[in-house]
Amino acid sequence: MLLLALLLMALTNMGVTLPAGELPRGADLVLTHGKIWTGEPNDAAGQRMAPAASVEAVAISNRRILAVGTSEQMHAYVGPNTQEIDLEGRMAIPGFIDAHVHFIQGGFQLLAIDLKNTRSEAEFVERIGEKAKTLKPGRWMEGGNWDEEAWPDAKLPTRWIIDRVTPNNPVFLSRYDGHAALANTLALKLAGVTKETHDPAGGVIVRDPHSLEPTGVLKDAAEDLVARVIPRPRQDEFEEALKAGLAEARRVGVTSVQDISVDADSPNSSFTGEIELLRRAEVGGWLTCRFYEITPIARWQRLADAGLERGMGSDFLKMGAVKGFADGSLGSRTAWMFDPFSDDPGNRGLPQPLMNPPAKMEAAVAGANQVGIQVAIHAIGDRANAEMLDVFAHVGGADTARRRFRIEHAQHLRPQDIPRFGKLGVIASMQPYHAIDDGRWGEKRIGHERARSSYAWRSLLEAGAPLAFGTDWPVAPLDPVLGVYAAVTRATLDGKHPEGWFPEQRLSIEQALRAYTQGSAYAAFEEKEKGTIAPGKLADIVVLSDDLFSAPPEKIKEVRVVTTIVGGKVVFRF
Ligand SMILES: [Zn+2]
Repeated sequence: MLLLALLLMALTNMGVTLPAGELPRGADLVLTHGKIWTGEPNDAAGQRMAPAASVEAVAISNRRILAVGTSEQMHAYVGPNTQEIDLEGRMAIPGFIDAHVHFIQGGFQLLAIDLKNTRSEAEFVERIGEKAKTLKPGRWMEGGNWDEEAWPDAKLPTRWIIDRVTPNNPVFLSRYDGHAALANTLALKLAGVTKETHDPAGGVIVRDPHSLEPTGVLKDAAEDLVARVIPRPRQDEFEEALKAGLAEARRVGVTSVQDISVDADSPNSSFTGEIELLRRAEVGGWLTCRFYEITPIARWQRLADAGLERGMGSDFLKMGAVKGFADGSLGSRTAWMFDPFSDDPGNRGLPQPLMNPPAKMEAAVAGANQVGIQVAIHAIGDRANAEMLDVFAHVGGADTARRRFRIEHAQHLRPQDIPRFGKLGVIASMQPYHAIDDGRWGEKRIGHERARSSYAWRSLLEAGAPLAFGTDWPVAPLDPVLGVYAAVTRATLDGKHPEGWFPEQRLSIEQALRAYTQGSAYAAFEEKEKGTIAPGKLADIVVLSDDLFSAPPEKIKEVRVVTTIVGGKVVFRF
């Protein structure tokens, strides 16, 4: 009997899945008395849209789910070394999988100062002083998001008001709109900006009307005078950013990310550095979130030459897709549209160089596809999306659905293109938060008719399209609960659409959760490993403060994560 038990344990350690009905044995962790939404189909036929099975308890062993069932059934797995957590009736779900983040950038944003909600100049100065105390001497303070219009006297700040609290650190803080920034005296000195410096073309150095000394505020092109002297982050700063990002992921219940590393051409880019850092974190045992790395499509040949293919790596760090751009964004009117923008007649946006002409895109997609690398393409405008569907169909032929091509954003679609996502099995990788953010001004740009088939996740699901959810963090907050809220309510941030901006596109809680778990897992070929709570799957589980299914929609955003479990290990407890 003991021998049998040892044998069973050895088999488990080797990753062999045991047939159902095996002898219960000591679990590492057992969660009991919960309301656990497994995400697994409830019915034998495995209908994707059937309500998911709900269970009370889960047993976890060797980083994976061992069994699910009633609390009583799971008690059978409690041994002398088992940790038991009583969920006290709270809801647990599979860990959230964010299908689109820029993780290191997000980490850097957490380290930077955010002055969005300052209500006065005095508070502005005070918060900058507090932040300065946390920085080593010489380290730049970046961030900003300030808006002097929100202060009682609406006066532009100056370097003189912040110099006193930042004696040892150069400071460069952007206005919320990016069209101005404030530097302190130290930063101006390092940049060589003086009274004698001329305004650059397209920019203004704001000056004191009497002394003509620069006040520290630099507008538009003048911002670059200082921005260009800010040093590239050092390796230890990258590590600090990763740690900050991981802490945020644990706090909000994100257990996996599909991470788009910074663009290869940007001066801040260090893709190999990023992989090295993630690998070091994994070996060091502090990588508490799983990474599927998505790299620039321009590198597909180099990846192929190096024999790096999709899925290579470990449970925590995998080589994923390559990504390219078909067009720009709605905000900047660079999304590629069939018809002109409603507020800019004559402008239909434009394709990115890779998409111009589409044959160029097709060559890159075909190249990557041929060597088995997954392809994800950013497409926002209806024209960019339609052209990409053509490209994918040409490249994939009868095999298109199996390639799991992805369109990142899939934001504005012609109604006739929506069913094509389903037919071709092209993944719509969408960010619900963008809809409640852009929904404040989107109709001005594209008008009512085109807005009807924008952020059209309901229509996409009904057309059988694979749907994956994410955030584009740091463009939107990493918190998936806000994404679920956005998908379910479509209530724009300005409060103008409490019943939902195009409410017919709202999702049910269950549909939103599926997109954010198994939908994202599918988008990375990982649906057999994660995305639901089922025996054999990785034990990534999140416990919530309240039941999402019974919370009134407007209260969803107040639900918070109370426990995050990654690979059977509790990594966060509120
Ligand atoms: Zn992005």
